[in-house]
This record gives sequence, structure tokens and C-alpha cells, in this order.
Amino acid sequence: MAGVFDIDLETEEGSDGEEPELGAEMDLELRGNGLEPVGHYEEIEISESSVNNGPERIGPHCFELLRVLGKGGYGKVFQVRKVQGTNAGKIFAMKVLKKAKIACNAKDTAHTKAERNILEAIKHPFIVDLIYAFQTGGKLYLILECLSGGELFMQLEREGIFLEDTACFYLSEITLALGHLHCNGIIYRDLKPENIMLNSQGHIKLTDFGLCKESIHEGAVTHTFCGTIEYMAPEILMRSGHNRAVDWWSLGALMYDMLTGSPPFTSENRKKTIDKILKGKLVLPPYLTPDARDLLKKFLKRNPSQRIGGGTGDAADVQKQPFFRHVNWDELLARKLDPPFRPCLQSDDDVSQFDTRFTRQTPVDSPDDASISESANQAFLGFTYVAPSVLESIKEGFSFQPKVRSPRRLNSSPRTPVRYG
Ligand code: ATP
Ligand code: MG
Repeated sequence: MAGVFDIDLETEEGSDGEEPELGAEMDLELRGNGLEPVGHYEEIEISESSVNNGPERIGPHCFELLRVLGKGGYGKVFQVRKVQGTNAGKIFAMKVLKKAKIACNAKDTAHTKAERNILEAIKHPFIVDLIYAFQTGGKLYLILECLSGGELFMQLEREGIFLEDTACFYLSEITLALGHLHCNGIIYRDLKPENIMLNSQGHIKLTDFGLCKESIHEGAVTHTFCGTIEYMAPEILMRSGHNRAVDWWSLGALMYDMLTGSPPFTSENRKKTIDKILKGKLVLPPYLTPDARDLLKKFLKRNPSQRIGGGTGDAADVQKQPFFRHVNWDELLARKLDPPFRPCLQSDDDVSQFDTRFTRQTPVDSPDDASISESANQAFLGFTYVAPSVLESIKEGFSFQPKVRSPRRLNSSPRTPVRYG
């Protein structure tokens, strides 16, 4: 079915062709660009003492599991109700991880280092609120505000593509969130559809706020290459060092996805996708407005020092772009602007905006046994109790293939063109 918005990216003419092709030379080019070597970050551990304030003793006993909301590369996310103490009766999201840290660029944060308060650093209207944290055995539990609007891209799946005004609203809110993290020395690094959620009003909330999670996957595969790679900046894929400019690349990839229906560089397998991200031609469909085209080209510059946002102005430079010219940034930050879609919710524990593949599951936190790997635990999802002897017997030789997640587009059937009117 052909429609006005049907795009055949393979045959589309009109890449503006000015982007230099970077491939093997990229490694060289990045040197001397002021990029941090990978791993050159101060890591701040998230723990009970760095998150909880007040005298209340927080632990698993404070929460009742209600539903499974989702699953990421590192564990499950549950909807829970606090059953005692302050906030009793209130709904939260509980994310279970093995360990987590926030990576900060030590240079950017030298001034706040001593009295660092993680909660302050990540507190922002468009970033998920981390309320409590606690640890048992090998697991870290993060209690987050529950984002009942679900993933932004669930909305995008429904709509097909977004009108530019709609995309502009979401991109503006994300821009402010990224700017705030960068100001605090935090690089998000993992900006992708699954990490962008909506609150009950329909405003953006970034989840994960730059968390570095200890890889649960055994073997050589590192996290960077376990999840969706379609939104990752070339310099991350090249492992040649990176700085906060990686987030502006990802925002460009998201913008492209919102406006065209898929990320800018995709292919049938990961190797070819990486190849395209490193060397592929940026193809811009003709229906995009000149402002959108201009911004996409500036975000998707392979050389991070030339990328919009990559300079000292960071988010401020992005905000000045013509694509955002109608945005009243003060009102936006105050959440005074009406979101394009308001999630249809009946109650504060409504899970209708989440995938039923998760919400239909029985909510069970897998056995906490630090001596077995999370991968082994996967075998017992859905069981309330597994005898230790059974766990012992499978400890050796359990092989686990990390799930390779596809880009959103490939997860579902291809979207049909959108028709308006
Ligand atoms: P990845 O590293 O691949 O992003 P992850 O382990 O960090 O994975 P999340 O992305 O944080 O996992 O969470 C997995 C899913 O759980 C999300 O895609 C979302 O659907 C749901 N989720 C996460 N945080 C919340 C929250 N605060 N409120 C409601 N749902 C949430
Ligand atoms: Mg995540």
C-alpha cells in the first residue's frame, strides 16, 4: 500500500551528501578530539546510604509486588505498592539490578565531588525520580516513581510516525533532561526508545539516568553490544573514547525514528547495522521540513566535535536551533505546556499502557542467591520457590545467550503508512 508517507529508503535520492564518510579512518580522526578514553569516569555507587534519607529502614518488606511492567537487559521492573511507613499505599516501580553506578566525568564535577548528592544531581522534571534504594545479597533494588504512561514508543507504534510539532515537544523535553545530566557531569549513553517513558500526564521521563550496570552476562559480550545499537553514536561502537556528544547523536537517531518510522541506520544484522552507522549515507525523506532536515544533519555528524551540542554550549546550542524556534523553554520546563497525548488511565495502578506480555506474568522476584548467576535465575522466572539443591545442580555449565534486542521497528510488524484526514 503506497501512501504519502511511504518511504523507500533504499531508493530515495537526496541525502544532502555533505557528510564525510568515516570508516576505518574514524579511529584516527577521533584521537586529539578531546574525547575521554572509555572508562575514564568517576563511578559513584548507588546504595542505601547514598539514596535514602530519613530514619525509615527500607527493605523488601516495605513493598508488595503487584505486576511485572517490563524487562531490561539487567532484570525486571515491577509495579509495587508501599505497604508501611511513609508513602504507605503509594504505587512505585521497583527495578532489580545486580549492581549499579553512575558514571560521571570527573573533570566536569570536580566542584561538587565532596558533597555529591546523587538524588540532587539527577533530579529533574523529565528524569525519573529515584526514591529509595536497598540491597539484599547480590541484588540492588531501586524504587522509582512509577511512570504509568508507559514507553513513548508505544505511542509512536500506535501513531506510525509523529507530526513534527509532536516530535518537537518530546525532543525539547528530552533536550532539557540531557542538558541537566550533562551539567552534572553525567553522560546518559543509552538513549533509546525503551528508556524514554511518559508519566501519567504524558510528559517525558528518562529512565536509567546514566546508570552503569554491572553486566550480568557471562563471557566476552559486554553490555554495549547486548542491547539495541541503532541509536548508538559511531564513537561508542568504535570504542575509541566518547564524551557527552554521544547523547546528541542518539537524540538525532530518535528524532529520525519519530519522523520517518525507523532509526537512520538499520540493517538485517548487527554487523551491517554498525557498518551503516559508521559509514552509511544519511538519507532524508523529502517530506521533512527544512528545519527538521537541518537539525537531523547536525545531530548525525559523525565527528563529535562538529556535532550540534558537542561544543561548550551543550543543550543551549541545541535549544537555539530553528527546529525549536517556537518552544517557550521556561514554560516547557515548568511542565505548563500540554503534552500531545494524554495517557488514558483509570487509576494510579493502571497498567494498560504496558505490554501484556509483561503485565500478565505473575510478579515474582527471582531467588536471591548471590552464588548463582542471574542467567541461571532466568530459568526460574515464574516460580515462587526453587530448592537450593536444584539451583546447585544447574550452577555448572549453564549456558546463557544474551537476548539480542532488535530496533523497535523490527520488533513488530512494519508500520503501515499513516494517513491523515
Ligand atoms: P536497558 O539497559 O536495556 O535499558 P534496563 O535493565 O535498564 O534495560 P529499563 O529500561 O530501566 O531496564 O526497564 C525495562 C522496562 O521496564 C522499561 O522499558 C519500561 O517498560 C519499564 N520501566 C522501567 N522503569 C520504569 C518506571 N519507573 N515506571 C514504569 N515502568 C518502568
Ligand atoms: Mg533501561
